[in-house]
Amino acid sequence: MPELPEVETIAAGVHARVHGQRIVRVWTSGKPQTFKSPEDEIARALTGARIESVRRVGKTIVMTLHRGKTPGAPSFPALSERMGSVKTPTELLIHLGMTGRLLVSAPEIPLAPHTHAVLTLSGAPGESARREIRFVDPRRFGRISLHAPQPATDNLQPATFSGPGSEPLTISLAGFIALFHPRRTPIKAALLNQSLLHGIGNIYADESLFRAAIRPTRQAALLTRAELARLRTTLVKVLRHAIQLGGSSVSDYVDADGARGFFQLQHRVYRRTGQPCLVCATPIRRITLAGRSTHFCPHCQR
Ligand SMILES: [Zn+2]
Repeated sequence: MPELPEVETIAAGVHARVHGQRIVRVWTSGKPQTFKSPEDEIARALTGARIESVRRVGKTIVMTLHRGKTPGAPSFPALSERMGSVKTPTELLIHLGMTGRLLVSAPEIPLAPHTHAVLTLSGAPGESARREIRFVDPRRFGRISLHAPQPATDNLQPATFSGPGSEPLTISLAGFIALFHPRRTPIKAALLNQSLLHGIGNIYADESLFRAAIRPTRQAALLTRAELARLRTTLVKVLRHAIQLGGSSVSDYVDADGARGFFQLQHRVYRRTGQPCLVCATPIRRITLAGRSTHFCPHCQR
């Protein structure tokens, strides 16, 4: 399942290619599992809207859409129009699930099997070629829905989608300690709990716990402040390094261009069961914790 670095890579890639463009046509597959909002509502909200930005919140891709006042307006409406529509953005939320992909494609490339949504774009100004954003998801655990931010009140920005938990890359040390210190569950389970921090999955939980030398089975509440501080530092470092390398391609993950990531080459424990620890040569052990396979070095992680 794509985690924070993979979703960040995809969102940044899609943003770079499509922001500022208008959606001229929407096609959906009619598969009810994929769409948490009615498909005709999604099509209505998207058709004619301009893509303001594509960003990541936790493991969710958030596409912010603005509607111009006049149909068929150019891709970059006048500033006054933008100002006027600032209060009513719509957000399209895309969760990739296990196997979801969000790709930016040329229209002439045949649709992949299991394509569930195609957004045809107006094309960038001065560019004749149109592009499509395609959502492909063989196992259909991915989800697409609309989110209407709360309208802005005086001097406030509209309340945009902020996800179920806190953001791992920006949380303060005090905030991090406040999240984990009260938890009586194993630290690995607490890291996977999306209502605490969002975006962390099995790979980055295992890799950050190894680098912080903390055993995944330790009760979160019994970790010292120094250990929690070390965990936060290593977690941020691992996530940033993984984003730099385009994420981990462990199954069929690819970015917006269909390219694979390279962080899997940096994995020190994840899926290295029985192989020697890169620090002490003790064989890496695999256990099941919170229903997930968990990899650690029994010597380095206490
Ligand atoms: Zn070791």
